Amino acid sequence: MQIPKFLIERYQFWKKNTFEDYKYVYVQASKTTQKPIAMIITCCDSRILENTMFGGNVGDYFIHRNIANIVPSKNDKDKNIQTLSAIEYAIKVLKIPNLFILGHSNCGGVEYSYKTLKDKKNINDFEYINQWTSCLQNSYNNIPNDLPESEKITFFEQENIKQSIKNLREYDFIDKSINENKLNVVGLWFQINSGLIKFLDNNNSFVDLD
Ligand SMILES: [Zn+2]
Repeated sequence: MQIPKFLIERYQFWKKNTFEDYKYVYVQASKTTQKPIAMIITCCDSRILENTMFGGNVGDYFIHRNIANIVPSKNDKDKNIQTLSAIEYAIKVLKIPNLFILGHSNCGGVEYSYKTLKDKKNINDFEYINQWTSCLQNSYNNIPNDLPESEKITFFEQENIKQSIKNLREYDFIDKSINENKLNVVGLWFQINSGLIKFLDNNNSFVDLD
């Protein structure tokens, strides 16, 4: 085991600067239970800085990341435990009022899934990834055949967000929270090169957030 130099340097910088400046916030946060204003489900992708984009402070966002920001269907029984346990905790214990599903452009997970479902051929070595990305089958099925090839991945990325929101409704405790107006679910798609964020409006269309 080796502690990388960048880890020590960056940590020391953070501890001496950011932490010192916000020490009172951390001290205060340690005295109470967390009360996040939202849960964010997003992709593992290193280019998604959700706390930076949404001005997150200590205790603001309860984060769950997985490849391609998927909420698996209730039918995907052997695949949904990790994501659903995070959501269950967020709703039943933390009582979070908002749940954001944040997808993005250039998503490697979605792109891989597109290729494998299109060619009906997996990379054999991806023992776990293949099982996980198979959760995207329903979203893939909704890609219109006549859509230009260059637009299909973006459509797939956004369809995955819509499908994940539909999947949330399959779980009784989540559906109940939404119906009782205790939980507000928002679908978001982030374009990396432009910084643009689109949200899913009440007509089930993605429109610019600003
Ligand atoms: Zn991704």
